[in-house]
Amino acid sequence: MCFRPASVSKPVRCACGTLNPPDSGKCRKCGAEIEMVLEPIPCPRCAAINDGNAKVCVECGLTEEQAAKYM
Ligand SMILES: [Zn+2]
Ligand SMILES: [Zn+2]
Repeated sequence: MCFRPASVSKPVRCACGTLNPPDSGKCRKCGAEIEMVLEPIPCPRCAAINDGNAKVCVECGLTEEQAAKYM
């Protein structure tokens, strides 16, 4: 198929290095389950780059609740 939906997002990279379609769920090469990786988010207080699913800033310990007040 050459048709792609408009909402298509970036391919996800498996731990084995294979790029897979974002909605594939499993790696097409090694079969490992692929977790959606969220975009890194800079901390609003110290600007450290945190994982998209991080609950607490790695650098200054700012929590999600506290971070919301900065937005
Ligand atoms: Zn893989
Ligand atoms: Zn921080």
